[in-house]
Amino acid sequence: MKITHVEAWKVEMRLGEPYRIAYETIESTVNVFMRLETNDGLVGFGCSAPDLQVTGETADGVMRAVKDVIRPSILSRDPLRRYRLLLRLKRQLGNQPAALALVDIALNDLLGRAAGIPLYKLLGGYRDRMKTSVTIGILPVDDTVTRAKQWIKKGFRILKIKGGCDVEADIERVMKVREAAGPKIELRFDANQGYTLNDTVHFCEATRAAKLELIEQPTPKSDLESLGSATSRVTIPVMADESVTSLLDAFRLAKHDLVDMVNIKLMKVGGINEALRINDVARAAKLEAMVGCMDEAAFAIAAGLHFALARPNVAYADLDGHIDLVGDPTAGAVSIRDGFLYPTNRPGIGFDLTAG
Ligand code: MG
Repeated sequence: MKITHVEAWKVEMRLGEPYRIAYETIESTVNVFMRLETNDGLVGFGCSAPDLQVTGETADGVMRAVKDVIRPSILSRDPLRRYRLLLRLKRQLGNQPAALALVDIALNDLLGRAAGIPLYKLLGGYRDRMKTSVTIGILPVDDTVTRAKQWIKKGFRILKIKGGCDVEADIERVMKVREAAGPKIELRFDANQGYTLNDTVHFCEATRAAKLELIEQPTPKSDLESLGSATSRVTIPVMADESVTSLLDAFRLAKHDLVDMVNIKLMKVGGINEALRINDVARAAKLEAMVGCMDEAAFAIAAGLHFALARPNVAYADLDGHIDLVGDPTAGAVSIRDGFLYPTNRPGIGFDLTAG
């Protein structure tokens, strides 16, 4: 089997409502889609959500990477020898994880289609659905509570509250949301690197009655000393997000016992193959893993979901990046019922795209 055709195109999607996190406000996103075709008539689709802050890439940069590096590197090659193709591409691309994820997802989709079974079953098939959180950006306290009630009414059972700009305001918002949500809703908190070690300790003590499930990336990503101290000083699990972008990062965090959990996002780490390896390191170190996402189309969410469904260690999901997108050409690549995310159960990632 040989790859005979490689096509990529950009799609800009607006968010229904802009949201604010510790370091930026997001109003729209540009994803890049890919279609591979083989001489046997098989196809594979990919999706990339580059983000300057997180992956260091733009959509135009990913398009250039496809034209200059990816297409020449994989044309005429056997798509089923994907490890070989991906390792070579990783060397050629350098640090462009969302561009690598684009090809990785397309090759994994093609693999599932070649086998005629859903990708998550091919990769391990541990679960068939996952409960996902839904995110509430930084808002005034009343708006935060209103938004929390709206999501709960829609069936979501896990809320992730963003913060990191003002610790006292964050404490108030978390306590008010717990009051409004009742004891059965899980609450997670993400400071997106906005806290010092002292802020983190103070926040966790002041919100103890809210019984947060976890705190995500409280301190700056490269300050691993503060992250490690936070983990040993607070009673709730501390999760690394921005601090884990590679296998080496995961190994370092695990080896020095710096966190309790890791957030694995396909765009940050370079796709499903690398995500599986990072999860294996986490598993070996008894760290739990969460699958996370960027502002990405449902197709990329589906790719993250297939990865997470395959492995018992990925027990948490934060796959809500597609929910508020307007004009997603792949809406329907996953479905949500009562806060659970389901794949389509068709072969591969399970959704056909029409080329742009
Ligand atoms: Mg995060």
